[in-house]
Amino acid sequence: MSSAAEMSTRVAVVTGSNKGIGLAIVRALCQQFQGDVYLTARDKGRGQAAVESLASEGLKALFHQLDVGDLNSISSSAAFFKEKYGGVDVLINNAGIAFGVGDTTPFAVQAEVTLKTNFFAARDMLTHFLPLIKAGGRVVNISSFVGSSTLAKCSPVLQQRFRSEDITEDELVGLMQRFVDQAQKGEHKQGGWPDTAYGVSKLGLTVLSMILARRLSQQRPNDGILLNAACPGWVRTDMAGQAAEKSPDEGAVTPVYLALLPPGATEPHGKFVSEKEVQPW
Ligand code: NDP
Repeated sequence: MSSAAEMSTRVAVVTGSNKGIGLAIVRALCQQFQGDVYLTARDKGRGQAAVESLASEGLKALFHQLDVGDLNSISSSAAFFKEKYGGVDVLINNAGIAFGVGDTTPFAVQAEVTLKTNFFAARDMLTHFLPLIKAGGRVVNISSFVGSSTLAKCSPVLQQRFRSEDITEDELVGLMQRFVDQAQKGEHKQGGWPDTAYGVSKLGLTVLSMILARRLSQQRPNDGILLNAACPGWVRTDMAGQAAEKSPDEGAVTPVYLALLPPGATEPHGKFVSEKEVQPW
């Protein structure tokens, strides 16, 4: 059982944070967030090594194993935070994957694998964790400018749906699944999609953020929760390579800004935010 002190302790959770931008987000939260900060990773060894590297910088992060691609891992993690803290104050969905530019894996496989982690697993996280977000909570989904450029390359019909205010979560999930199915058959271009699995996955995550923010406003209007999609910029990590312009700490700035929007703030909410600015969609 948790103590009363733990139940009133604020808590922040960052997925996929054993390296890259996620680790930099945890570092910044350790410095700026008043409460417990959880570095989570699918691999216990890599996660604990990252916690130790922060400890050597004088920073205290806590560790919890969390594989966003595993529903059992998601639900047992959600149960852990509910039991120990009574919920979650800050959730940053950062875990993501990308095939390299020159990767020769067939597009059908890239589409399925990329959408699985970047869209469907992030959605599973939100399904299980949104009910746990406490009043005044902040949720940040790490999306990408590539999602925006991908939107512009979709057919007019798809663009209209992705920009509409009445698209439902079910409709969006159906469209993401349709992309995967059409990619399997080599028919995604006829279906109105561009040739980028990563771009479609991040487009989907941005639209999902907008849908869930609208739902929060309707269902929990007095709870003051703010949920946004963020672009970190082009950041030097294993994913983007060393030619990228920003350091991981610089890439963490906008996600952390959204995670720490002050109490009582009413915006941004349901937006795509880059360089701390709401971007057109
Ligand atoms: P990295 O490849 O450096 O880090 C990705 C992290 O996600 C790793 O910790 C990885 O864990 C974790 N991860 C992957 N799959 C899972 C899973 N199933 N469960 C838990 N963790 C998982 O990438 P970045 O730091 O660059 O990317 C972080 C986020 O930022 C991603 O969502 C990415 O799409 C986004 N982004 C990055 C940009 C950039 O320029 N770098 C630009 C725009 C967006 P493991 O070590 O176990 O593989």
